[in-house]
Amino acid sequence: MRILLIEDEVKIASFIKRGLTEENYTVDVANKGEDGLYLAEVHPYDLIILDVMLPDTNGLLICRELRQKKITAPIFMLTARDSVKDKVTGLDAGADDYLTKPFSFEEFLARVRALCRKADRRKGTKLLVADLELDQLTHAVSRAGRQIALTAKEYALLEYLMLHANEVVTRTMIAEHVWNEDFDSFTNVFDVYVYRLRSKIDKGAKKPLLHSVRGVGYLLKEG
Ligand code: CA
Repeated sequence: MRILLIEDEVKIASFIKRGLTEENYTVDVANKGEDGLYLAEVHPYDLIILDVMLPDTNGLLICRELRQKKITAPIFMLTARDSVKDKVTGLDAGADDYLTKPFSFEEFLARVRALCRKADRRKGTKLLVADLELDQLTHAVSRAGRQIALTAKEYALLEYLMLHANEVVTRTMIAEHVWNEDFDSFTNVFDVYVYRLRSKIDKGAKKPLLHSVRGVGYLLKEG
């Protein structure tokens, strides 16, 4: 899951980014509204978190502009103001959810999870492909009951593949949803990640789940 965070306050932005990264989300931060708009146009984010009070513009305007540009990612607005009128304006501008600062990080994360699920129309926090199971709440991964320890990046990669099980996933799709702006060495390390992930999930199993599709990408499929 790749998230765009549009927040001008550097401390708050880095706090949120750190918290989300610990939960295995991939996060890009824009400190200006204009930068956020640009990033949202060039990357297909799974969620956009948008602060209402921005120095160069207003989050509500950005929200409207994102919708006008047909960007359909869920938008989660953050604001310091707690008035019903502001909430209504935010939702009318095309936001999916709204949270007032200061907020509990636990509640914030629960809403992020709900919005990401909404994006792929799924209920619950578990993903299942054959006997491979991933719990998005606890980050526990197991195959046929055997617990598998994954690094944050391996987890993010597997989660993306499981969300697109039985579809061919291209390297570009993975680069766009699992890696972020800071990660420029994608081509060099990518195959290493896939190799490691494959050896962890398919090791000792009768049927491999992760397949390479030559010249195209990868396919995670049941049997
Ligand atoms: Ca702000």
